Amino acid sequence: MIPSSQSENLGKTARQMERLVNLSVTLNSTLDPDRLLRFIIETAADLLECEAASILLYDEKRGELFFTSAVGTDQQKLAEIPVPIEGSIAGTIFTQNRPLVINDVEKDPRHYTQVGEQIQFRPRSLLGVPMRIREKVTGVLEALNKRDGGFDDADVQILSVIASQAAVAINNARLVQALQRAYDELSRLDKLKSDFLAIASHELRTPLGVVLGYATFLQEEAQGEISEHAKVVLASALRMRSIIESMTNLNLLQMMTVKLDLKTAAIQQILKSVCDELMPTAKAKCQMLTLEAPDEQLMVKADIEKLEQVFKNLLNNAIRFTPEGGEITFNASLIHGEVWVKIKDNGIGIPKNELENIFKEFYQVESHMTRRHGGLGVGLSIAKGIVELLGGRIWAESEGQGKGSTFTVVLPKYSG
Ligand code: ADP
Repeated sequence: MIPSSQSENLGKTARQMERLVNLSVTLNSTLDPDRLLRFIIETAADLLECEAASILLYDEKRGELFFTSAVGTDQQKLAEIPVPIEGSIAGTIFTQNRPLVINDVEKDPRHYTQVGEQIQFRPRSLLGVPMRIREKVTGVLEALNKRDGGFDDADVQILSVIASQAAVAINNARLVQALQRAYDELSRLDKLKSDFLAIASHELRTPLGVVLGYATFLQEEAQGEISEHAKVVLASALRMRSIIESMTNLNLLQMMTVKLDLKTAAIQQILKSVCDELMPTAKAKCQMLTLEAPDEQLMVKADIEKLEQVFKNLLNNAIRFTPEGGEITFNASLIHGEVWVKIKDNGIGIPKNELENIFKEFYQVESHMTRRHGGLGVGLSIAKGIVELLGGRIWAESEGQGKGSTFTVVLPKYSG
């Protein structure tokens, strides 16, 4: 039979272990630093059967320790009292990086009396352990005034376990807070950028409308050289309008405020209209543009204008990134009940590690400084946004630089 005192001790140890396990579960599931700190010191005071417990964290800028949480004493007042590293028990534990048990605090020369005086708390016994993150001491966990007798080795072990778990949990909570702050700041900047794009494109549209109007008028009314000049102005103004439209579309897609005007149409008809529109540009570079599609009409339900924009962006890129005399093929087919459109070129190709990046807004493989191909870097992100809104998917393939590229758009087939 186990003697009753031994069985009491066993029972106590089991309860302590259970509390430690609970503590670890809570620390792993809580990210609110204040709640974490409170829970740590409440558990510490409870398990060690003492009157008060506190956590002091090191402030690197000021080179002092600060009470961040306490039970059994006036927490608010404590928070205002810095504890120096030199001439304090907590400072000694911090610099020596090891636990300290003092069973008569007031007689200890390292005792920093100001704290007790200001909050009217008389410390008798104290156990303090360092809190470490990867061997670096970040603070001190203290338990004060053991109710029954003095602190012993078992208390040191328990508090050390709590301190090591607490240090990691506090560090994680701080990292999450820092991440949250960075995320909030990024969201703020993103909103600023969206607002700027919206305002800039809106403000540019009115004067551009005037330029377009007068250039059209001049081109039609004027004679000879002047009409030719007006034609150049008109072409540039139209290019500007398309850039502004891209910026507006991108903004609307990002803010999820795009309105779709869904209609049914054959993919063949959409691709033909895009090919017809861009054929002169391809011809100007002596490129061969071919459209391959089955006789059976492949119907899709989509915002036709926006879907045309997708294929225009892809074909425009194929033309721009393929040298003179190159070949571009548009191919539509039915695969597993879906409509597949492939735009294949034999142009400059795309490095494998860039195949996903190119769909990010403002992303271009060539840096802005060395680019020879112009463009805003938004065509593919607009295409991806629209295709996904229409329930489809889009991706790029390339064997690498100089080996051409293939863009695939898959859309649900409409079957009435
Ligand atoms: P932009 O063409 O205005 O730069 P896009 O979003 O349309 O913007 O394209 C992003 C980048 O993807 C391009 O700058 C280019 O580096 C790459 N890219 C797109 N299409 C092709 C293509 N057919 N061949 C090679 N590179 C391409």
